[in-house]
Amino acid sequence: MSDDIHEVYAIRYGHHARRSPENFIGGDPHDMLQPLDFFVWAIVGPSGAIIVDTGFDEAMGRRRQREIVKPVRDGLLALGVAPESVEAVVVSHMHYDHCGNYDLFPRARYHLQDREMAYATGRCMCHQQTRLPFEVEDVVAMVRKVFSGRAAFHDGADEVVPGVTVHHIGGHSKGLQSVRVKTRRGHVVLAADASHLYAHVDGGRVFPIVYNVAEVVEGYETLKKLATSPGHIVPGHDPLVLTRYPAAKPGLEGWIARLDAEPRDR
Ligand SMILES: [Zn+2]
Ligand SMILES: [Zn+2]
Repeated sequence: MSDDIHEVYAIRYGHHARRSPENFIGGDPHDMLQPLDFFVWAIVGPSGAIIVDTGFDEAMGRRRQREIVKPVRDGLLALGVAPESVEAVVVSHMHYDHCGNYDLFPRARYHLQDREMAYATGRCMCHQQTRLPFEVEDVVAMVRKVFSGRAAFHDGADEVVPGVTVHHIGGHSKGLQSVRVKTRRGHVVLAADASHLYAHVDGGRVFPIVYNVAEVVEGYETLKKLATSPGHIVPGHDPLVLTRYPAAKPGLEGWIARLDAEPRDR
């Protein structure tokens, strides 16, 4: 394996049943069941495992009325990744479903964009509408990591390790970043909430939680430029990810998918 080629996995930990009009600005004429899944991602390469996002725990699931299907820790262990050994975590953005489980990675440095920390601690949190997807304890936990020397800040595009880069997209949250990974099948892009569902990036439609609509739709163009093909873009909340990609190994169907494998259709 060359030094900058990585394996990539999507690990499903949560679920929320909802109808399609809730997933798009302007609603959806089909009004069908269109649930969201919740994922963290593992990038495995020569320098160990890099985890993208940390999910939320049972208590937060109850508070937000979102179902935990398998705790994040269990998913990592099923993949053979010991959370205690992880040295790098990329935080796509600081919404409650992406930065909980504060103590799961005691050795890790947390990589985030300057703009996301500024947003989550600044004047926009004075307003109920903009702070809605944030949790104060999540933000406080990240501030503590800054003060204990466990945060690494990025401003725009930057490299985490050779073959793994972060890219500021903004849009959905001011400092949202997506992650590009060099794999055996080309550059896979973990969009996170830069595109919740395939329907967002494919159709130019916008999820209702948003900081800046123009940045969201421009972000779709950035994702397409970063990925080897549109089929290399992995949306952040789409249950289809687990049917398009094969299971990481037998027995993990519907739980952990391997994203550096060829998708089944598209
Ligand atoms: Zn979000
Ligand atoms: Zn999210």
